[in-house]
Amino acid sequence: MEEFKKITVICPLCNETKDIKIPMGVFNKKKLGTVKINIPKGSVCSEHDFLILTDPKGRLLGYEILDVVLDSNKNRNDIGSKPLSLLDLRKFFGKRGLLHIFHAKLYGYPILLLYKDKEFQKSIDGIKNFFINLFSDSPLIRIPIKFEQSQELNRKIRKEKEYLVINELGEILNVPWKENDDIERKMLQQAFDIINHQEQLFLLKNSISKFITESLYVKDLYETIKSLSRDELLRKLNIKFKNAKFSNNRIKFMIIFIERFFIHQRIKNKP
Ligand SMILES: [Zn+2]
Repeated sequence: MEEFKKITVICPLCNETKDIKIPMGVFNKKKLGTVKINIPKGSVCSEHDFLILTDPKGRLLGYEILDVVLDSNKNRNDIGSKPLSLLDLRKFFGKRGLLHIFHAKLYGYPILLLYKDKEFQKSIDGIKNFFINLFSDSPLIRIPIKFEQSQELNRKIRKEKEYLVINELGEILNVPWKENDDIERKMLQQAFDIINHQEQLFLLKNSISKFITESLYVKDLYETIKSLSRDELLRKLNIKFKNAKFSNNRIKFMIIFIERFFIHQRIKNKP
């Protein structure tokens, strides 16, 4: 009898959640790398097709959205509509709003986006896709942005204290963190210095990927070495990542990052 692996899947576009069963045979074929599994429309939610990525043990690593899904049943005119650029996002939310959303995404804070105008609904999938694409190289799962239509955008008391609450105009209604946003500010600035939209995204994805890879390396170090001085940590980082510069600030943010994603792992003897 074939055994199944149960995976809880959240549709990255509409947040619908379902447990799905995948035959173990799918994973047994692969010893290394990532397994991509197609989740067709109707299996988790009724609207969206996407892929899930797992490791060979069937542990969920992330999601991937298909760029174009050809729907033979209807002639949808939005097929091939252009994906949003970084500049489009800045037009929506302003510089400050975009920076906040980016910070929340990078460190895995949940986001609640309130909007008043019904027209805004048309942009929701584009915004979701933008961030899914931006973080698609990251092995860590991020909670999809929650969108909510609301007539009172500026309700002062919202229960969602752990959320970044922002509205369609980029006005920030709640910030759940205390740290500053130096790292993302630099990443965004570097990207905006480039004119070409695709290169902007490429560069930003690269910066994210670098930051995450370095952070995960630091996490591994702390898992294997009990006590690590700042000098020792720097020495190891410089050997592992040649040509990189590790400022005190960058190390501070790598640790914030690790502690956000690996809640049970409080780093003792912080450098
Ligand atoms: Zn969906």
